[in-house]
Amino acid sequence: GVHMTKVLVTGGAGFIGGNFIHHMIEKYPSYKIYNLDSLTYAGDLIKHEKFQSYSNYTFCKLDINDRKAVTELFFKEQFDFVVHFAAESHVDRSILDPGIFVQTNVLGTQILLEAAKAVSVQKFVHVSTDEVYGDLPFEPNLYFTEETPLQPNSPYSASKASSDLMVRAYHETYQLPVNITRCSNNYGPYHFPEKLIPLAITRVMEGQKVPVYGAGSNIRDWLHVQDHCAAVDLVLHEGAAGEVYNIGGHNEKSNLEVVKTIINMLGSNNDLIEFVEDRLGHDRRYAIDPSKIEALGWKPRHSFESGIAETIQWYQQNQLWWQRILSGEYRQYFERQYSFD
Ligand code: NAD
Repeated sequence: GVHMTKVLVTGGAGFIGGNFIHHMIEKYPSYKIYNLDSLTYAGDLIKHEKFQSYSNYTFCKLDINDRKAVTELFFKEQFDFVVHFAAESHVDRSILDPGIFVQTNVLGTQILLEAAKAVSVQKFVHVSTDEVYGDLPFEPNLYFTEETPLQPNSPYSASKASSDLMVRAYHETYQLPVNITRCSNNYGPYHFPEKLIPLAITRVMEGQKVPVYGAGSNIRDWLHVQDHCAAVDLVLHEGAAGEVYNIGGHNEKSNLEVVKTIINMLGSNNDLIEFVEDRLGHDRRYAIDPSKIEALGWKPRHSFESGIAETIQWYQQNQLWWQRILSGEYRQYFERQYSFD
């Protein structure tokens, strides 16, 4: 029969990977999409009940650290494309328990690279983060470019930087056609409620205090997850092999500004803000120069204001989803992190 393009997405039960699968199913009905995910605490299959209704979607419950099973899957399916999102992704968790970050993010990535090389995939996109560049001072017109030296500061960002270097080496040594994307902070639907924006939205909705680190002055460059997914799709199809692309939408906001915007949009008041002791090694500022991805033909479609308003509406309409998460294992973790309630 006719060959159908096969795309393996790792970490598709997570926040960005799930949004990416949705994007791909809608945009490329002729592709076969595979979701490889081990369903850690961050994995969630509720959204995938929707995906199951697409005939071209397959879920593979698998740990990327399982070399044998991963290799077998690649030989059986002969994927054309790999888009690698699976990772331990939360900085605070990496401070409590760095070992699993090295295991999954570094060693797990190498297992995927090896399998991708063995079946000669056409493209391997490794989804990384601007946090690998470390910390930017509060100076205007100073941005991360693809040439900025890697200076990760947290165990999370160090594990991502390490995996980036291994991806690079597979291109330089074996000519595996790779791309690395480095994105700023994402927000949008299905964002796990331990991260700043969904944390603030859900806690304000419940009339509870919102913890803000330090003085709330740390700056992050926020990007709507659907804009990120469109950029990854573009890099997958159009990115030149071996290249790195930074992805960001020039939306620099301090954490305090973000929380105040949410409180304001929900008609609540700033008394809900509770300043808590700063995170260890907390980077001051991240901000991306997106010229290179823009030259490939990408620009973000959401403004920060409309994106946040839409996201608030999504959390209002999907209370069951996040309440289920908040009542589970995550609850205990939250209590270990913040002792104020
Ligand atoms: P997430 O934590 O929501 O999802 C990660 C997914 O990976 C989960 O479904 C989890 O079950 C799965 N996973 C974890 N370990 C696994 C393993 N050993 N085997 C198979 N599956 C495993 O993360 P996210 O926020 O969607 O981030 C996805 C990727 O994007 C990560 O690589 C992250 O570093 C990167 N990134 C995230 C952001 C952000 O703002 N969230 C920004 C830039 C880059």
